[in-house]
Amino acid sequence: SSLKYQVIDSETEHVLAKGLCERIGIDGVLTYQPAGQDKIKYEAAMPAHRQAVELVLKQLTNPENGILKSIDEIDAVGHRMVHGGEKFACSTLLTDDVLKTVESCNDLAPLHNPPTLVGVAACRELLPTTPMVGVFDTAFHQTMPPEAYIYGLPYEYYEKYAVRRYGFHGTSHKYVSLRAAEILGKKPEDLKIVVCHLGNGSSISAVDGGKCVDTSMGLTPLEGLIMGTRSGDLDPAIIEYLCNHENLTVSEMLNILNKKSGVLGMSGGISSDFRDLNAAANEGNEVAKVTLEAYAYRVAKYIGSYTAAMNGVDAITFTAGVGENAAWLRPMVCKYLGFLGVELDEAASEKACGVEGIISTPESKVKLCVIPTNEELAIARETLALVK
Ligand code: ADP
Repeated sequence: SSLKYQVIDSETEHVLAKGLCERIGIDGVLTYQPAGQDKIKYEAAMPAHRQAVELVLKQLTNPENGILKSIDEIDAVGHRMVHGGEKFACSTLLTDDVLKTVESCNDLAPLHNPPTLVGVAACRELLPTTPMVGVFDTAFHQTMPPEAYIYGLPYEYYEKYAVRRYGFHGTSHKYVSLRAAEILGKKPEDLKIVVCHLGNGSSISAVDGGKCVDTSMGLTPLEGLIMGTRSGDLDPAIIEYLCNHENLTVSEMLNILNKKSGVLGMSGGISSDFRDLNAAANEGNEVAKVTLEAYAYRVAKYIGSYTAAMNGVDAITFTAGVGENAAWLRPMVCKYLGFLGVELDEAASEKACGVEGIISTPESKVKLCVIPTNEELAIARETLALVK
């Protein structure tokens, strides 16, 4: 129900303006923030995504406080696409044919792909001669080998319905792994990196020589780490067991697994926000303490398994809301990783909150980094590369 936007000068990579449309289809709130100025919030009717796109373009060219003289100044639009199935292993120009192919993946992401396509259609209508590029959340993970993406299910379900691991947050995993190589002064080809994208939605990936070889989210973003409100991995038989006991349908149960589980559910409803949970744990709340310990433990277990997947690890990176800001979580994860020769520099880690930093000791066998993700910049770079 929301639409985020940024206008980026591709030469300087500066953000000229950014904002958000919220409550699309309900009432509508537009947030607009030109660089170096305060945020402005307007209430504006947004019955559908088309009107939201229209309002954004109108705001950007508003003679009073817009940053563009005309929409002709927009050279290209990069769209974040959620699910590209097996069809898209890289970003692509959005032509009629390509959009039909994206539509054929709707079944795999029924909540996300259709509104994205409506947004693309609205942009194409309002900017008919401007190139549009699709940057897929799944694309970076398409290099996974079959042993990483195939599930332990009858093969016919892969053949008939394309049921396999796809993974998400690919734009972030790619951006962060490339940036890690840069700040470590190494070539991506020479590094084995575990990227921990820990936000409200969390995923982790193994990037070997610049290519993703495994990732924790699956056919949908429900698999893998414990998240803000998603359960992550669990015994699939739990679904039938709970449906029977609580008299729920499978789709009601999936709603619980997506929206009422994770740290929110495990903490007995304290919050999905890690700041609230940390505050509760610091006040002595035992359930909050176990919730956060379980969260950190799951992250550490994945780091261990991805080290095996790559037969080694050179760097572990923390990114996204929790990974970038929650310095208190890092020792909770790293205490399980001593066997790999991981040594956290706690003072450096405390300093690296919301900013880049190397947070391992000079003796650590594995480098630890905090790298704020920047999906918008990554989308802009991919877009520029295709339209240049
Ligand atoms: P998403 O993009 O998946 O919605 P983000 O990457 O923006 O999520 O992360 C949002 C989460 O980051 C919030 O739920 C909050 O728990 C966490 N977060 C943000 N700032 C902090 C902080 N200073 N300390 C701990 N957690 C934080």
